Amino acid sequence: MLINSNLYNCEPLTAPGTKPEALSVTEFRDSFVHKFAAMHGKPLSTATDGEKFAALAALLREIISKNLITTRQERARTDPKQVYYLSIEFLLGRLLATNLVNLGLRETCAEALSQLGIQLDSLLPEEEDAGLGNGGLGRLAACYLDSMAALGLAGHGCGLRYRYGLFEQKIINGYQHEYPDNWLQDRSYVWEYRRPDEQIAVRYGGTVRMQTNGKTRFLHENYEQVMAVPYDVPVVGFQNKIVNTLRLWSAEIDISHYTCCRQGADCNSVIDYKHGVEALTDLLYPDDTHYEGQLLRLKQQYFLVSASLQSIVRSFRLNHDALRLLPAKAAIHINDTHPALAVPELMRILLDDCGLGWDEAWPLTVATISYTNHTILPEALETWPVTMVAQLLPRIHMLIQEINERTGRELWHTYPGDWDRIRAMSIVADGQVHMAHLAIAGSHSVNGVARIHTEILKQSVMRNFAACTPDKFTNVTNGITHRRWLLTANPRLAALINDAIGPDWIKTPAKLAELAAAASDPGFLAALAAVKLDNKRQLARYIKAKNNLTVDINSIFDSHIKRMHAYKRQFLNVMHIMDLYNRLRADPALTIAPRTFIFGGKAAPGYYKAKKTIKLINTLADKINNDPAIRDQLKVVFLENYNVSLAELIIPAADVSEQISTASREASGTGNMKFMMNGAVTIGTLDGANIEIREAAGADNIFVFGLSANEVLDYYQQGGYNPRELYTSDPRLKTITDQLVNGFFPVGPEEFRLHYDDLLHHGDEYFLLQDFAGYVDTQNRLAAAYCDQQRWQRLGLLNIAYSGWFSSDRTFAEYATDIWQLTEPVPFWNQDQPGIYDQLRPLARQDVLC
Ligand SMILES: *Cc1c(COP(=O)(O)O)cnc(C)c1O
Repeated sequence: MLINSNLYNCEPLTAPGTKPEALSVTEFRDSFVHKFAAMHGKPLSTATDGEKFAALAALLREIISKNLITTRQERARTDPKQVYYLSIEFLLGRLLATNLVNLGLRETCAEALSQLGIQLDSLLPEEEDAGLGNGGLGRLAACYLDSMAALGLAGHGCGLRYRYGLFEQKIINGYQHEYPDNWLQDRSYVWEYRRPDEQIAVRYGGTVRMQTNGKTRFLHENYEQVMAVPYDVPVVGFQNKIVNTLRLWSAEIDISHYTCCRQGADCNSVIDYKHGVEALTDLLYPDDTHYEGQLLRLKQQYFLVSASLQSIVRSFRLNHDALRLLPAKAAIHINDTHPALAVPELMRILLDDCGLGWDEAWPLTVATISYTNHTILPEALETWPVTMVAQLLPRIHMLIQEINERTGRELWHTYPGDWDRIRAMSIVADGQVHMAHLAIAGSHSVNGVARIHTEILKQSVMRNFAACTPDKFTNVTNGITHRRWLLTANPRLAALINDAIGPDWIKTPAKLAELAAAASDPGFLAALAAVKLDNKRQLARYIKAKNNLTVDINSIFDSHIKRMHAYKRQFLNVMHIMDLYNRLRADPALTIAPRTFIFGGKAAPGYYKAKKTIKLINTLADKINNDPAIRDQLKVVFLENYNVSLAELIIPAADVSEQISTASREASGTGNMKFMMNGAVTIGTLDGANIEIREAAGADNIFVFGLSANEVLDYYQQGGYNPRELYTSDPRLKTITDQLVNGFFPVGPEEFRLHYDDLLHHGDEYFLLQDFAGYVDTQNRLAAAYCDQQRWQRLGLLNIAYSGWFSSDRTFAEYATDIWQLTEPVPFWNQDQPGIYDQLRPLARQDVLC
C-alpha cells in the first residue's frame, strides 16, 4: 500500500502525461517577493494581510494565465465540442485555496510563505467569498465547472457579473438584517480578465418590421442597446494544466448614446438609460414583488442568454462554415428555467442573423440545447406575462408564439381533439409564457437531479410531456466536487485517507470505497475520531469568536445549514430541541448525550415566515444557552451569513447532517452529499438524493424517518391530513405548540403566531406534526449510536467510503455521455477501472416512489 501524507504535490496524483506546476519552494518564494514589491512598492515587513493576499493571487494568476493560453491554443488545434453551462447563479466561494490545490502548489506555497514568516491560512480569509448565487443551484453550477476542468472537458460557465452578490446577513437581536454584499469592493475581482474587445450588443424594446422582398426578413428597429462586456474567471483543472473559463457578463452603456448627450440631445433620457443599464447587472434576483422588479429579472435573463448565445455562435462561426455542425460542436445547457429564453434566442440568431429557414433552424436548436429542472415547487415554476415579453423583447415574443403554435399543431396530430391536454402543455396560456414548457420544447434532453425527483417530474409535474416524448427525460443525480469539499476543506481527513489507501481516490473518487476495509481497524477509527475532534475544535473557536458562546467539543455537533425555507423544515428541528429541553426541565436528573445544534442559512428578504424562523431559533438559543438547569447538555447556535466559506468550516466538523425536508419537496440536495463525504451521519427523510445516499451508504448507516414522497403527494392530492388530531393526542406536541404563543419565550404572543397558526389553523402544509414523533425517535436512536463511539466512527467511515458516487466527476461523466454526446475521448473518471462506478451505483429500486 502506498503511504503518502504529502497530499498536494505527490506524483501519483497527476493525470497521465501531465503534472503539477514545477515550481520549487525557493522559486515560489522569490517570485512572491518580487510580485509583492512590484505591486505595492513597500517592504513586505509593513504589509497587511490584504496586500499579501493580493500579491499571492496575482502570482497565481500569472501561472494560470499561461495555462489558459495553452489550453486555448490546444483547443483551437483540436476543435473539441464545447459545453456551455448557462446559469443565473454561480456560487463560487473563495478560489485561492482550490486554485493552489488544483495547481498542485498548496504545499509549495505554504512552505515558501512560512519561510517569509507568513501563514497561508491567515491570508485565505482576505479573499471575498464570491456569492453570485442563492443556494444549491448556484453551488452545483460551481461544482460542475470544477469537474469539467478536472476531466479536461472544454466546458465553460456563462453567468452574470453581479455588482452585489447575495446579501450579507447580520443577526441583530435575533432577527436577520440584510446588507449589500459589496464583494467587488469597488475594485476588480482578482481572478477575472475583462475582455472589452469581445463585447456583445443586446437589444431591448422597439418594434419589429417584416420585410418581404424575395425572402421574408424581420427587422428590429428603435430598440435600446446595452453592451454586454465579458469578464472571464479562470477555472483551473486538477493538475492537468487545463484552464476553462466562467464568462460573467456585465452591462455597460452603449457609448453612442453618450455622444448624443454631449451634442445636447435629451440628457434626462440618457441619464435614465445609464441608470437602467447599471441596474441590469447590479443584483441577483431583484425584488420581484412589483412590476419593475419582474421586468428587471426578465431583462437580466435575456441579457445572460443573448450575450452568451451570440458569443457562442460567433466563436463557432469563426472556425466553422456549416451551421449544421453546431450541435456537433456546441452543447448549450440551461440550469433551470432562468436561461430558457436560450430557445427563442438561438432561433433568432439562426433565422435573423444567419439567414436559415425555420425548418433548418429548429432541429439545430433542439439538438444543441438541454435543460435541467431543479424544482417541483409550484411557486418556483417560472412564468412571464406575455405582454411584458412582447414589450421588452418583441422579436423573441414573435418567436415564442411561433414555437407555441407549431408545437401545438404537432400535439394536435398526436392527440387529436384532446384540447385539455394540449392546453396544459402549451407554452403560452392564460396570458403567461411558461418557461419550463418552452425549455422542454426546445431541448433534446430534460433531466431531474435525483432519481426520485425525475420520477416525480415524469409522473406528476411533467407527466404530459413525459408521455409524449419519453426519450427526452432522463435522470442525472447531482454531485459535488470532492476536491473542494474534502481535499481542500478537510485537509486532515484527506491526509488520513491518503495514509490508508493512497491518493488515487482524488482522481477516481469511487476508490474511496477501499476505505471500507478500515471499518474494523480500531486504530484507524481512532485517527478518524481525532480528525473530527480537531475540526470541531476549530469550529468551536469560531463559534466562540462570533457568538461568544462556549460549546462542548465532545457533544454531538448536529448541523442544519441551508437556505431558510418551510419545506426544509428548520422548524421541525426546533420542535425537537424544544422537546429535548422540556424533558430536561421536567427531570433535572436526566442525563442525555450532550448536543450542540448548529444552524445557518439566509432567508429571502421578502420571505416573512423564514425570517421569523431565524428569530425563533435565536430566541430558543438564548433561552437554552442561558439556562443552568440543563447543565450545558444542550447548546443552540445560529451562525450568521451562511455561505460557501462557512459551509467549508461547518461540514468537516459535523457529526450529524440534518436533511429533513418534507418528502418530495427537495429535488436532490447537495449539502447532504458534502456532509456524507466528510463523515457526518445523515438524519433525514426519504427525499431527493437522501434515498441514493441511503442505498450507497447502506440502510444501517443513515437514520431515516417520516412520510414517504408518495404519502405526501397523496395527502396533497386527496386531503385527509388532520394536524389538530395529532396536536390533541400527543402531549409533547401540545406543549411545544402552545409554548410558541403562551409566554414561554420572553417575546410577545404575536412573535411566533404564524408558526403556531401554520401548524394548527393552516393545515400544517409541511407535515411537521405528522413527522415529529418519528423524528424524535430517530434522534434518540442516533444519540444512542453516538454513545457507542466505535460504532459511531464506523458509521462515519462507511459514509465517507461510499460517497464517491456523489462526486460531480461522476455526474459530469453522465452528462458528457448521455446528454451532450461528446465524441472526443474524455479522460473519464473510471479510466483505470472501467465499471468501478457501476459497482457503486445505487440500485434502481422500484419501490421508492411507485
Ligand atoms: C451546498 C450549499 C447549498 C445547498 O445546500 P442544501 O443542503 O442542498 O440545500 C447552499 N448554500 C451553500 C453555501 C452551499 O455550500
